Amino acid sequence: MTSNYLTLVMMTCQGILLVTGARIRSVSELPSWYPGTETKPAPMPLLRVQGFVNTRDVEDGTDLLSDAVTARNWLIDAGLLNETAELTDSDIERARDVREAIRSLIEAGPSHRVGPLRDLAGAHRTRLRVADDGTVELENARHDGLGDGLFELLLIIHRAQQEGTWTRLKVCGNPDCQWAFFDRSRNQQGSWCNMAMCGNRLKNRELRARRR
Ligand SMILES: [Zn+2]
Repeated sequence: MTSNYLTLVMMTCQGILLVTGARIRSVSELPSWYPGTETKPAPMPLLRVQGFVNTRDVEDGTDLLSDAVTARNWLIDAGLLNETAELTDSDIERARDVREAIRSLIEAGPSHRVGPLRDLAGAHRTRLRVADDGTVELENARHDGLGDGLFELLLIIHRAQQEGTWTRLKVCGNPDCQWAFFDRSRNQQGSWCNMAMCGNRLKNRELRARRR
C-alpha cells in the first residue's frame, strides 16, 4: 500500500461520501495510531492486531518498528507500552518477530511461524475478570513492559478465534503488498487489500505470463 494509493483512497472516499456516509465514517474514525488510512478496517479490538501487522508496509519498504524512537512513540500511542517502561533493541526485535508470526498466522499457509507466539504465551499469565454486565472475560494479568502489550494482542486473537471474526482478517494476496485487511464480504472470498491496486495488477501479470 503506497502513499500515492492512500491519497487516492482519501479522494475516493470523499466521492463516496455523497453516496454513503457509513463508508467515510469507517475510514475517518480510525485511531491516531493506525498506520495510514484503511478502507477495510477490522472492528475493535481486532483493529489493534491489524494495525500492529500493518506497521510494516512491505510495498513501501517502511517500518514503524525499525528504530527505537519511532517504535517507542508508536507502541505508546497504540497502548502496547507504558510511557515509563523501558524499551531495548532486543524488545523491538521481538516485537518485529511477533508481528511477522502474526502475519504468517493470518496467511494461514503451510509456513506458520508459531514459535514467537508460543514463547509469548508461555511467559505470561491471564486472569478472569467479571464485567459489570456479568460477562466473564480473560484479561492480561500485568500491564508493564512490551511483552505484556504483545500478550494483549494474543488475547485479542484468542477472542476473535472464539467469536469467528479471526478468519476475516487476511493478508493481501499480492506478495509485494501483504497488507492486512478485514474481509467484510458475505462469502469471505476477498483476496486483496484493494482490488484496483493489487487484484487487477496481479491478474494482469498472470495474464501476461500465460500469453508468453
Ligand atoms: Zn494489497
